[in-house]
Order: sequence, then structure tokens, then C-alpha cells
Amino acid sequence: MKERRAVFPASFDPMTNGHMDIIERVLKLGVFDELVLAVGENPEKSSLFSVQERVTLLGEVVADLRDGHTIIVRTAGGLMVDFAQEIGATAIIRGVRSPRDFEYEAEMGFLNHHLAPNIEMIFLIADPRYAFLSSTLVKQVAQMGGNLEGLVPRVVIERLQSRVATASGRSS
Ligand code: ADP
Repeated sequence: MKERRAVFPASFDPMTNGHMDIIERVLKLGVFDELVLAVGENPEKSSLFSVQERVTLLGEVVADLRDGHTIIVRTAGGLMVDFAQEIGATAIIRGVRSPRDFEYEAEMGFLNHHLAPNIEMIFLIADPRYAFLSSTLVKQVAQMGGNLEGLVPRVVIERLQSRVATASGRSS
């Protein structure tokens, strides 16, 4: 039987508990045999971690979720619908935190439907606990030495702290 595959594309720079929540909820739906986490560059945002670093970190974070689920972490470039078609995915997962997200996501969703009507866009509304949470905000908190507990997975906290320390010359 054909594998039911979905892709969740994001910058994951870094992965937050909001991303994690979306991933866990998609897995819980039990609709897909395989979830592909597609790590991409967002040209509108400056990145703290390289794409390869993000792939590695993401792999570590989702290792515990892999039990009983197939999760693949990959880099992705170009149009998301092209990437989805290439890997044989039938759905693209996105999270919606706010009306602003919805506006952006709807626009992208209409475009994607136009480009590839066979790919379904699936939108999950953010868990209210994480509705304020973005990678950009997390980077700002890290850069200012704030408490990252509850915002990102533990392994991400460590990596973030050492990255901002290196960037500001506070460590060797
Ligand atoms: P990009 O830079 O590609 O937009 P992001 O990592 O910012 O990458 O977001 C990718 C997807 O994850 C988007 O659909 C976004 O709405 C969703 N997302 C990000 N943060 C959260 C969150 N806290 N809760 C739910 N969804 C989120």
C-alpha cells in the first residue's frame, strides 16, 4: 500500500515547543505513516544555526517521539509544493498562532492549491500555551540571557546558550 506521508516545513531556527506541539499532534492524529520535517532557509529571517546544525538538533529532539512513528528530518529548498511532490507527500502541515499567521498561511495555501491541487494543506491551530512563541522571540530571549525553560526543548536550551555565548565572545 502507498505510504501516507506528510511534510512539516519550517526554519526550525531553533525548534521551539510550539513546533514540537504541532509535530506531536500530527502524530497523534495517526493519519500519516511518515512525517517529514523539512528544514529550510527563510530568506526574510537571519539565522542563528546553519541548516545542517538545525537538522542535527531536530533529529536529537524528535528521537524520543520516533518510538512507533516514522519521522524523517531533511533539508528542503525551493517551493514547498515541489518538495512535497518530490518526496511523495500528500499533505503540508502548518501551524496557525494568530490572525496574522492565518493571513499569511491562507495566502500561501491558496497559492499552493493553485500550483499543486493534489497536495492538501493542513492547518493546526496553535496550543494557546504556545501561541506567542516564535523562533525569533526565543533567539531574543537567549541573546539577553533570559530563562528559556518551557519555550524550547532542554537540549535546545543548551545549544542556544552556548551559541549566543560564542557569538558574543563570552566563551572560548
Ligand atoms: P518559517 O520561517 O518557515 O515560517 P517557522 O519555524 O517560523 O518557519 O514556522 C513554521 C511553521 O510552524 C509555521 O506554520 C508556523 O505557523 C508554525 N509555528 C511556529 N511556531 C509555532 C507555535 N508556537 N505554535 C504553532 N505553530 C507554530
